[in-house]
Amino acid sequence: MTTTSQQYESALRALGEHRQLFIGGEWRQAEGGRRFGVLDPADGTTITDVADGDVGDAMDALDAAAAAQGDWARTPPRERSEILRRAYELITAQADDYARLISLEMGKTLTEARGEVTYGAEFFRWFAEEAVRIHGRWMQAPAGGSRLLTLKKPVGPCLFITPWNFPLAMGTRKIGPAVAAGCTMVVKPAEATPLTMLRLAATLEEAGLPAGVLNVVTTTEAPAVSEALMADDRLRKVSFTGSTTVGKVLVKQAADRLQRVSMELGGNAPFLVFEDADLDAAVDGAMVAKMRNMGEACTAANRFLVQDSVAGEFAEKLGARMGALAVGRGQDEGIDVGPLIDAKAVESVHRLVTDAVRDGAALVCGGHVPDGPGTFYEPTVLSGVPADSEINTEEVFGPVAPITTFSTEKEAVQRANATEYGLASYAYTRDLGRTIRLAESLDFGMVGINTGLISNAAAPFGGVKASGFGREGGFEGIEEYLDTTYVSLPEG
Ligand code: NAD
Repeated sequence: MTTTSQQYESALRALGEHRQLFIGGEWRQAEGGRRFGVLDPADGTTITDVADGDVGDAMDALDAAAAAQGDWARTPPRERSEILRRAYELITAQADDYARLISLEMGKTLTEARGEVTYGAEFFRWFAEEAVRIHGRWMQAPAGGSRLLTLKKPVGPCLFITPWNFPLAMGTRKIGPAVAAGCTMVVKPAEATPLTMLRLAATLEEAGLPAGVLNVVTTTEAPAVSEALMADDRLRKVSFTGSTTVGKVLVKQAADRLQRVSMELGGNAPFLVFEDADLDAAVDGAMVAKMRNMGEACTAANRFLVQDSVAGEFAEKLGARMGALAVGRGQDEGIDVGPLIDAKAVESVHRLVTDAVRDGAALVCGGHVPDGPGTFYEPTVLSGVPADSEINTEEVFGPVAPITTFSTEKEAVQRANATEYGLASYAYTRDLGRTIRLAESLDFGMVGINTGLISNAAAPFGGVKASGFGREGGFEGIEEYLDTTYVSLPEG
């Protein structure tokens, strides 16, 4: 088995010297010379440090993005496409290096991290293919007398703010369509996981992305940096993935300059199991929907709603699977579940579990904070959880499956929709009529039928209600980065 220091060394070797800000094609120190540490969530030690940019650095990054915008918008689509395609191939060829870095700074297992590399790289391949399919239309005015022509133009310089839970994929699904559309950008990755984004910048540089198109500012001053950037008229778009609380602050700030916004916010996904479902398939799906990324995913199944007649069997089977998972360092062999991101996350998950038990829920497995260093939490299944227990109304963001029962389809849908959020939802049933009714009545941006995994670069990812607006991926993803110009032409 490799030691922790060997694991650090091998992951950091892949990152090389890229622990600086990336502005205007240069790797440079923060103006104030400050740096901040990146922690290993498995034991709290400092892995390395990176430049801690401030408002001045962020404005330099916007200067670079604004200066590059004109030429970049005029670059032929095929060139933009081929840069993305090369970056896709580089990431794929270096998948193990990327996976080690993601696992180290975020905590997820190497298997999970490899899955993220495949998923994250796919946005570059998909948008490489979309870059050459941007087009407008030509039509005759209904009353005659003129022709209507539309053309698409890049929105302009963008600000991207990304979370820590998918350090690569949450970046590529914004950067991919922006590069394809001809936008320049300033990226601010999460403080907890800046390393993967720095490596991604190095990969894009190697793939031939011109200086100034992508700028990365790592910082511990997210609110000040984003506020200053958004107070500048040159910035035309903000795309944010993170909590609903921060999303609301950013939408208010964007209102002052009427910047376009895409908001990928929190979720509270219901996972419905009907009595006609293949129960073993539902348990398999539940394991994926719940345990992908250790439950630290906005799409994670948050509430299991199971029909009365099969609830006992479902809880028993899910408990057996969850209870058998091995918890430990994400980089070690044979580990299924890594640490949560920090102590605050463990505290919040544990509080929701203890409150649910106090409200009358029964622990089927787990429910404890393991002894020792690191921010781990036992995979947990709770049965008989009251519908109004906080664990059913809040985003859990951890490896906990609360099970509640229902008796009719109508009740299931009504309860599933009784949340302020509307991102992902899941249902297991073998009834085609019910499938259609669910697709139409579940108030969520995404509905997975008989599957626990819905994320796909070719699909429009996004939510409704407090889960935000805008779509990433699919044909829709590139539209977020394009404005439409309408040209009126006279009759020939
Ligand atoms: P967070 O909102 O705390 O942080 C996200 C990012 O915003 C980080 O880069 C952070 O530095 C920055 N930030 C924090 N405060 C800011 C401010 N005032 N101004 C500007 N930037 C600020 O969220 P998190 O804890 O990193 O991520 C978890 C959340 O993200 C969960 O709610 C999860 O559901 C959500 N998420 C959503 C999606 C989606 O696609 N809908 C995907 C992944 C995660």
